[in-house]
Amino acid sequence: MPGLLSRKLGSHVQLDNYSGQIRKNVPLNKLTTWRIGGPADWVVEANNPDELRVFLREVNSSATPWMVLGNGSNILFSDLGYRGAILILGDDFQQMDIRELTIQAGAGLQLHHLANRAADAGMTGLEPLAGIPGTVGGAAFVNAGAFGCSFLQLCKVINGFDRHGHFRSFDDIHPGYRSGGFPDGCIITNIQLTLASGEPSRIHDQMCQYLEQRRSTQPLSDASAGCTFKNPANTGAGRLIDRLGLKGFQSGRAMISTRHANFIINNGGASATDVIDIIRHVRRKVFAEYRLKLELEVLILDETGARLDPGGELK
Ligand SMILES: Cc1cc2nc3c(=O)[nH]c(=O)nc-3n(C[C@H](O)[C@H](O)[C@H](O)COP(=O)(O)OP(=O)(O)OC[C@H]3O[C@@H](n4cnc5c(N)ncnc54)[C@H](O)[C@@H]3O)c2cc1C
Repeated sequence: MPGLLSRKLGSHVQLDNYSGQIRKNVPLNKLTTWRIGGPADWVVEANNPDELRVFLREVNSSATPWMVLGNGSNILFSDLGYRGAILILGDDFQQMDIRELTIQAGAGLQLHHLANRAADAGMTGLEPLAGIPGTVGGAAFVNAGAFGCSFLQLCKVINGFDRHGHFRSFDDIHPGYRSGGFPDGCIITNIQLTLASGEPSRIHDQMCQYLEQRRSTQPLSDASAGCTFKNPANTGAGRLIDRLGLKGFQSGRAMISTRHANFIINNGGASATDVIDIIRHVRRKVFAEYRLKLELEVLILDETGARLDPGGELK
């Protein structure tokens, strides 16, 4: 009875003392690159640490479900939306400061802005990551990476709040492949990076080459969340899916990209169920053919915020 569950959870949502920006019933398809997802009960924008503290106090005292969202470029929300509060990091969390070869960056900043500003300042290291359409916080949380470089390799200090609202430095994390190893429910607020010095025009040229490589292999003008599955050891998930002839496979309005087999694209009006059906199908086929269990790179959530792993039961 999803309807009944929604009303029950919806009635818990309490943010009466929060003074920052709050919107109600916001369609999540507007906040995600997959352009999929029903309404979130609340979307709250915290523009500074004080607002963030009040937000955490309110949601914790009212037991309101909540989660932090960056650019929504690695997430599939439910067609039923999310029964709770989605937190977005605004103004103060989108700033950056460069001194010599050290950058302080807010978690709400776009990764491509960070990479471009670093290049302008003659700082090299971020070029391979410039085409990842996420925020600094999202990239840190999932340890985004490309072309052999991962974001957390470059981060020297990472600060934020734990889920109870205590400010701390995350210096005890154990990052892995597409996993930051952060504690559940933390909010990354800012990071510090130290990069090497370089010639700005050469850094920009290098960045353009990486972007061109993406453009030539990925369906960048389609709505997607990038690679759906992690690469298994020693091979690409896309290569395995392609070998099974699954490019162009469709369910409803979702389709495996004909350009890159690890991208599932929304052809306009796709539902989360369409995407999930494709994920199950691909995992089943890959397992049957290669005895390999593909792991999800994207995060799939139901309307309560619980993580789903469709097709993950294969043995
Ligand atoms: C066209 C395309 C290409 C892509 N290419 C790549 C690629 O090359 N490499 C790669 O790794 N990924 C890639 N991605 C996936 C995605 O862009 C990255 O994973 C990105 O880092 C996600 O950042 P985000 O801000 O969108 O995070 P979201 O999708 O909004 O969130 C992802 C997770 O991070 C958490 N989170 C977000 N912000 C914070 C915060 N401040 N504090 C704590 N937790 C937070 C969220 O709660 C969620 O669990 C691609 C996606 C697309 C659409």
